[in-house]
Amino acid sequence: MCAAQLARAGRSVLVIDHARRIAEKIRISGGGRCNFTNRQVGVEHFISENPAFARSALARYTPQDFIALVERHGIAFHEKHRGQLFCDRSSQDIIDLLLAECRLGPVQILAECAVSAIRALPVSEGGASGGYALETSQGPVRCHHLVIACGGLSIPKIGASDFGYQVARQFGHRIVTPAPALVPLTFDATQLPVLPGLSLPVRIACPSTWARRGTMQFDEDMLFTHKGLSGPAILQISSYRDPHAALSIDLAPGLDVLAHLKQLRQGNRTSLNQVLSQRLPRRLVEALVPAGEGARRLADLSDAVLRQTDVSLKGLRALPTGDEGYAKAEVTRGGVATQELNQSSMESRLQRGLFFIGEVVDVTGWLGGYNFQWAWSSAVACARAIAAAPA
Ligand SMILES: Cc1cc2nc3c(=O)[nH]c(=O)nc-3n(C[C@H](O)[C@H](O)[C@H](O)COP(=O)(O)OP(=O)(O)OC[C@H]3O[C@@H](n4cnc5c(N)ncnc54)[C@H](O)[C@@H]3O)c2cc1C
Repeated sequence: MCAAQLARAGRSVLVIDHARRIAEKIRISGGGRCNFTNRQVGVEHFISENPAFARSALARYTPQDFIALVERHGIAFHEKHRGQLFCDRSSQDIIDLLLAECRLGPVQILAECAVSAIRALPVSEGGASGGYALETSQGPVRCHHLVIACGGLSIPKIGASDFGYQVARQFGHRIVTPAPALVPLTFDATQLPVLPGLSLPVRIACPSTWARRGTMQFDEDMLFTHKGLSGPAILQISSYRDPHAALSIDLAPGLDVLAHLKQLRQGNRTSLNQVLSQRLPRRLVEALVPAGEGARRLADLSDAVLRQTDVSLKGLRALPTGDEGYAKAEVTRGGVATQELNQSSMESRLQRGLFFIGEVVDVTGWLGGYNFQWAWSSAVACARAIAAAPA
């Protein structure tokens, strides 16, 4: 995206990627349909030591700007859920869009190129802005501006590396400790019923040092897996969770279970399990309501049993044993600390001509197109600053 913007400004760009195919994350994103943005984007959808850092870039290149670009390229898309926009056809449409934009100017792309060393040049050697000398597997490279867009640590098998953090450290930047985010969570069998494949809407909450109010809550679908829990509710809360905090899960968010059961109780000869299964998945009810009580007629059950049933369904508490790691995480929380970056240009405050954009920065979006919007917005902020600088 940064190269594409600079192409329009007529600036000469070399894109270096060590992977064989570039933009692989776009290709695999959104289940192959790339959730390329969200109609509603605000800083409240991002996790960072300083969430306000993202405000300027997001305001200057908005979802509507990216949607307009998508429309100019004739890409068909649809809204799926809560403002999330997906390609109708394939993620490849977004990759093709970016490549087509890059072809509008002097942009060269070097794939399968590894960078082994970066050196900042003294102003006398590198021109007005100093500049950089890179050692790469395809020979030496010199540039006036160096943009680090290496992403985070998620999905190493398609090229993720800690290279961006290494470069940041080389030039004195602090790294906010990276952690897998938007990631399935693991639990031991004593914490949860074993219901692999079962999916249902839940309300999920946990205390979080990353949340402005100290706790975070999502209303989304949750999926039981062989290793624990997944689905949008879990992916969202995984980004916020502190390792030692239990999750609170309401498995019947639209239903006041106690009031519902009390209301139906009088003279009701139906079993507790049958009554509950009219509103909730039967497998879930059978797993959570003790068998003896579940089989009894509702009319015969005491307030105490109904209260206990309510707690089992609406007050499940479970402490994850961990997560499924970077192999399954959609993004990496943490990264290059925003404190030492300029929020309107993404330029390092420590090293002139050095920029960090996208996921390598300590700005992590929610599930739902926010991470790509941050990638586009931060790339455009950076490109505009470079385009405005002397060539
Ligand atoms: C399975 C999956 C699905 C996702 N779906 C969505 C979605 O639908 N919507 C959404 O908003 N976000 C989604 N994301 C997150 C989104 O893909 C990322 O946040 C986004 O791609 C970040 O863009 P980036 O340019 O910063 O980094 P990346 O897209 O990760 O690109 C970094 C590039 O740097 C290259 N690189 C890394 N190390 C080196 C090195 N040492 N030398 C040279 N090159 C290097 C990599 O090969 C890669 O091409 C998804 C992520 C995953 C893993």
